[in-house]
Amino acid sequence: MSYEIVIGLEIHCELKTKTKAFCSCRNEFGAEPNVNVCPGCLGMPGTLPALNKTAVEYCIRAGLAVGCKISRYSAFERKHYFYPDLPNAYQVSQLEYPLCIGGGLTLDSGKFVRLNRIHLEEDAGKLLHGPYGTRVDLNRAGVPLIEIVTEPDLRSADEAVEFLAKLKSALLTTGVSDCKMQEGRLRCDVNVSVNKPGDKWGTRIEMKNLASFSAIKRAITYEAKRQMDELDKGNTFVQATRRWDDKDGKSYPMRDKETSNDYRYFPDANIIPINVEPSYVESIRKTLPEMPWELKERLQKELGLSEYDARTITSDKAYSDLYLNVLKTFNEPKFVLNFIMGEVFKKLNALGQDDIEIPLKPEILAKLLKLYHGKTIAQATARELLDEIWESNADPEQIVKDRNLAQVSDSGALEAILQKLVADNPKAAEQLKMGDPKVNQFFIGQTMKATGGKANPAVVLEVLNKIINK
Ligand code: ADP
Ligand code: MG
Ligand code: ZN
Repeated sequence: MSYEIVIGLEIHCELKTKTKAFCSCRNEFGAEPNVNVCPGCLGMPGTLPALNKTAVEYCIRAGLAVGCKISRYSAFERKHYFYPDLPNAYQVSQLEYPLCIGGGLTLDSGKFVRLNRIHLEEDAGKLLHGPYGTRVDLNRAGVPLIEIVTEPDLRSADEAVEFLAKLKSALLTTGVSDCKMQEGRLRCDVNVSVNKPGDKWGTRIEMKNLASFSAIKRAITYEAKRQMDELDKGNTFVQATRRWDDKDGKSYPMRDKETSNDYRYFPDANIIPINVEPSYVESIRKTLPEMPWELKERLQKELGLSEYDARTITSDKAYSDLYLNVLKTFNEPKFVLNFIMGEVFKKLNALGQDDIEIPLKPEILAKLLKLYHGKTIAQATARELLDEIWESNADPEQIVKDRNLAQVSDSGALEAILQKLVADNPKAAEQLKMGDPKVNQFFIGQTMKATGGKANPAVVLEVLNKIINK
């Protein structure tokens, strides 16, 4: 029996403000536990929150980037639940009056995925489980977060991952967050249901706090299949939260509707609602940078890139930053693009990171590409050097000089090698004389071997033709 899969995402993204959402403690990742805390974010009685204006600005900025309508009136609610990492026993969040409403992003297929809202809230602390028991680090308590909620418009694990990658790239571009999934700065709750085509939608199951693209893909695939199997057996189920265990590759029951939290939301009387002036919104809109989809159009128009190439190179900010910055000192758009999408991507694929980081500086890559483009070095050398300079950022020109890696384009030197190869391989030489171009490769390959990959293939062919036609 075939089923349709329905997916909606709730994405939490920590904002890159200097201080926390409601106090002046530093918002900093990786500090010693419990150094960035004050009576306010520790939930001491008698303290009062003071809203961080930059957090509001960043939330609006994110909203504008993805086409949200910005609310004129916005307010904060307390969401109550008990957990050791939440000193107040409530989280300040937004329910009735979120800052941003609607908006969405277009997938490569042309499908538009709608957002329901983006709202501002605070993060909780972190539990540290260790050999001496569990301890709590409250550095993160009160760090501003935006929660981005999609409509249930996604229909496959691949669509969900593509959407999240696009959203991440948009958020990175706006500069409101560094979106590091590895550091938990971008986390995703996944809602999944399945139904038979034509039927009404199934009951959604939520899996919380997924922290990598691969986990999201695996979790959706597993959970959809599990639900289909249940329905095939004639079982039904209730709306519930399940825990995704990425090591096991399975989801486990956590709580269902009956045992679920009643958050007892009510307005936070200590934080006055925000009146968002349209002129303020416009002033933020004016500072929005070029978004990835705008850059994509520009690269097609200005540099003549194909739709596919432009889309690929703008699919992550790390790629497009590298590309544009290499072009600043070495303006060969097609050549640079091919090298990045070939060699650099190969290297990144092997690393398999969710948060793409390229240690190689663009100006160093530009130097390498100049050497390769100008045929000073052969392709094999360019590849090897890429590995070598990837982290060290050593000067490729210097390496080529020091180690004598320049390509052999000297026809005299190549002629001696080829003379010998022709003499040693009379059969191949004969085939070449008969005009069989397949043997070219053989001679190029042998010359490469003799020169340690440094022979310039074009010159090899030239010299070879001269010898054969003598
Ligand atoms: P909650 O806070 O209770 O999780 P939200 O409204 O914040 O509720 O989020 C609900 C999420 O579930 C949204 O992302 C929405 O798109 C998604 N969703 C709603 N109905 C379904 C469904 N039938 N199948 C899958 N996802 C759904
Ligand atoms: Mg939810
Ligand atoms: Zn504080």
